[in-house]
Amino acid sequence: MYASIGGFRRPSTPRTSRLTVRLAVLASTVALSAAGLAVAATPSSAAVCNGYVGLTFDDGPTGSTSALLSVLRANGVRATMFNVGQNVQSNQSAARAQVDAGMWVANHSWNHAHMTSMSQSQMQSDLSQTNSAIQSATGVRPQLFRPPYGETNSTLQSVASSLGLRQVIWDVDSQDWNGASVSQIVSNASRLQAGQVILMHDGIQNTRDAIPQIMANLSSRNLCPGMISPSTGRAVAPDGTPPPTTPPPTGTPTTPPPSGGCTATATTPNVWGDRYNTSVTVQGAGNWTVVVALTPPQRVSTTWNGSPSWDSTGYVMTMRSNGSGNTFGFTTMMNGNSSARPQIRSCTTG
Ligand SMILES: [Zn+2]
Repeated sequence: MYASIGGFRRPSTPRTSRLTVRLAVLASTVALSAAGLAVAATPSSAAVCNGYVGLTFDDGPTGSTSALLSVLRANGVRATMFNVGQNVQSNQSAARAQVDAGMWVANHSWNHAHMTSMSQSQMQSDLSQTNSAIQSATGVRPQLFRPPYGETNSTLQSVASSLGLRQVIWDVDSQDWNGASVSQIVSNASRLQAGQVILMHDGIQNTRDAIPQIMANLSSRNLCPGMISPSTGRAVAPDGTPPPTTPPPTGTPTTPPPSGGCTATATTPNVWGDRYNTSVTVQGAGNWTVVVALTPPQRVSTTWNGSPSWDSTGYVMTMRSNGSGNTFGFTTMMNGNSSARPQIRSCTTG
């Protein structure tokens, strides 16, 4: 049926130069909006959400996963990525980048075969191999499974279930795999209702181009992108618990100069290969404003327990208390600079 679905259908070479130009334009757009991006992507963003929808992107990671993630982050979107196991194995950093960008990673089989023609043991091996690849690359164990082409049967469902995977098909098909235009994709997405899930794909330019309009439409209806519940398969509010587990503390964050009636002390309790968490504790005020400066090209990807705003460079964050106590935190992507740590510029009351 979907013989040419997403990841197995690449843009033909004649489009390459145009694609490169558009990607360059896209990249500059993303850079310009980077300041707004981190704010929009934070759990504390203040959109009115009367319901949630599940945006899903299948068949990745691909060579353009980073472009997709840039667009998603610039639009404050968290989505579910149904990854193909062999793509994850061959591009582990892209799978990791999905998680770092706040996406949920899920199982879309090992190599996108027609699974209903498999034996039970073949299904079992296919899905568990994919789970292992995803977990090994990202540290996250998938809880959702989407069968390639949406083709399933009771054997496949029970195998998935035995591996802790909830099967998720879709309510709305964007038709992006079928050559839909940007406006057609936007129009298809406008049918989404609260709780529903839409099928889209990693690796398709029109899909990336449609995201700002999809988000505008959802916002106008007070719908927000959410996570897909592993227990119901429906879109629900994100659980708001991004930071992964493990690693040892390293790094030496600066201590702030005393100023403005409070002090802020930073530590970096978690450092990974490509990012680290900073925890800042404020003393001397319950209602505080802390200014933190990053070193380019490092960027904040997620914050918690405060209300952030950014200067025009995107490297200076002003964090205000939001009633979540006196310790806030954020995740910083190193982007190639693994040694710099945030500098606290000031702590003021109010
Ligand atoms: Zn697929």
